[in-house]
Amino acid sequence: MPFLIKKAPDTSEKLQILSRDSRYDLACACGTSAEEHRRRSADNKWIYPVVLPDGRRTYLFKTLLSNVCVNDCAYCPLRAGTDTARCTLKPEELAGTFLSYYRAGKVSGLFLSSGVILNPDLTMESINKTAQILRRSQFKGYLHLKIIPGASEAAIRHTLSLASAVSLNIETAGKDNFNSISSSKDYEKDILRPIQLISRLTQKGSEFAGIKQTTQFIIGAAQDKDKEIIKYSWKLYKELNLSRIYFSAYQRGAGSASLPGEKSTLTNSQLLTREHRLYQADWLIRKYGFSADEIPLDSQGNLHLEADPKEVWAKVHPEFFPVNLNKADEKTLMRVPGLGQLSVSRILEFRRKGIKLRSLNEIKKINKTLMKAEAYATY
Ligand code: SF4
Repeated sequence: MPFLIKKAPDTSEKLQILSRDSRYDLACACGTSAEEHRRRSADNKWIYPVVLPDGRRTYLFKTLLSNVCVNDCAYCPLRAGTDTARCTLKPEELAGTFLSYYRAGKVSGLFLSSGVILNPDLTMESINKTAQILRRSQFKGYLHLKIIPGASEAAIRHTLSLASAVSLNIETAGKDNFNSISSSKDYEKDILRPIQLISRLTQKGSEFAGIKQTTQFIIGAAQDKDKEIIKYSWKLYKELNLSRIYFSAYQRGAGSASLPGEKSTLTNSQLLTREHRLYQADWLIRKYGFSADEIPLDSQGNLHLEADPKEVWAKVHPEFFPVNLNKADEKTLMRVPGLGQLSVSRILEFRRKGIKLRSLNEIKKINKTLMKAEAYATY
């Protein structure tokens, strides 16, 4: 019988594998809703829609450099020892492919992550080398680079000198939760300290000021409650100046067997809803003036799955309503379920022009969301 010689995968085949595996990492600007975070173009699966800080929509090239990993995160389909096709792109290979997409106007930036190849700094070296090739090719666009847990200060500084944004995934709220899902990473040393270091190096007036730092929690893999995740997020925003926090629902069967000691009774689809509710709570804190303590929780310390946290808050605070849309200040208007930033700025514009509002229909064609607001409003 003739020998079957297995052909090494070419760049496009490697990208099929590595971009597929990068979908578990949502810690970038990909999409604005939970669904969009996971959406990719049908043909080139490494292209993701993104919304830039100025509101413009564009596309990012998103991939792993390698899906080889020495770590053992229990929820992760790429952890060492799982039966999955492994491959690694060379920095020159990835940079060349990205530049051809960029020059053809198909993408405007790159989100680059990786599994841990042998050790953190060796992996950082490949990430940094890819970025260096791009910057030397006069690429001045958006470059989001992953900081590998346990990376040295020298490697992190090198990454910051090349990146527009960086992220190191925090995964859980606190050490105990973290230890239940990984024995190969040290929460203090490999995760928290590097996040604190990046925060110091990127703060106003510092060497790398202006470089954004984001992070990601894995939802439902450890035993942490939403209450802990929300409190932790609040601290990360306030004390370490993170620019965004992302949430990624653990999905059973996505290459990861059930977790050790798993107690969660939520289905995969309920875990995605939990992820969505955390984004809504995060939005209330970042954009609507709510404090972490005001986010309503159930008796177990989790967000209510069946309703938007802003609506739940309104239900438990009947004394706050109805809100007079012609008199209330901006902060109060923002608490009305169904009113978003755009509707509130239109209401205030009417007021500035001296026009008395008698119905929300006057600011915008009435839809389901605005109808909801009418129930909480007076004129
Ligand atoms: S470090 Fe953990 S989460 Fe990241 S690829 Fe390796 S096993 Fe997966």
